[in-house]
Amino acid sequence: SEQWRIDKWLAAAGVGSRKDVKKILKKKAVQVNGTTITDAAVKINVDEDKITVNGSDIHYHPGPVYYMMNKRKGRISATSDDQHTTVLDDIDSGDKNEGLFPVGRLDKDTSGLLLLTTDGTWAHQLTTPNLGIEKQYEAWLDEKPSTEDLHKVGEGLQLKDGTQTKPAEIGEGKQEEEGYSLMITVTEGKYHQVKRMFGAIGRHVRGLKRVRMSDVALDPALAEGEYRALTAEELEAID
Ligand code: URA
Repeated sequence: SEQWRIDKWLAAAGVGSRKDVKKILKKKAVQVNGTTITDAAVKINVDEDKITVNGSDIHYHPGPVYYMMNKRKGRISATSDDQHTTVLDDIDSGDKNEGLFPVGRLDKDTSGLLLLTTDGTWAHQLTTPNLGIEKQYEAWLDEKPSTEDLHKVGEGLQLKDGTQTKPAEIGEGKQEEEGYSLMITVTEGKYHQVKRMFGAIGRHVRGLKRVRMSDVALDPALAEGEYRALTAEELEAID
């Protein structure tokens, strides 16, 4: 069951701001299972603990959270890392619900659509390989591939380690300053999948940005490092 910091939970329950809550705690007005708590960092179990403020029961069961983020280049898709900043470093402390984690992974140097949730079942459904959720990327290549080579990528090809890829959908390309840009939609999520697919035809991926997963598109209003909650429609669309 879900663990929350008492101050965060009380604030989320509408008792007051985090600052108010700290004052209320100091005044010894909060009890957890009959014991007075003054430390804002105390963890509570939201399903089991009985919390009162000035003697009144507080009932609040936070549901799971679902966010979409435009991942910042340089961030690791993990909840913690010894050396690097993670995508969680871009989440405001008030939104950092216990157990929040990224759904699947994007490479450190990849930007774009990354979902984050506290709902393990949901995340599992999205990342289980045999469901073949579509993932669309904008890729910037060092050079324009030949039509024949693009066809190979589209048909599915053998990576250098012998892995066979499933067919991918390739959109029209255009020459840009950052390189030759094209859209590619894959239904797998193998390690460095898109980079290795282009690597197999001798092309180098200079930049990669995920723009869609299933029927949920990256909100163009989100700059790198920004995020927002998924709407009800988006949650429905991605199931
Ligand atoms: N394919 C890659 O090579 N990298 C990513 O981050 C995602 C897909």
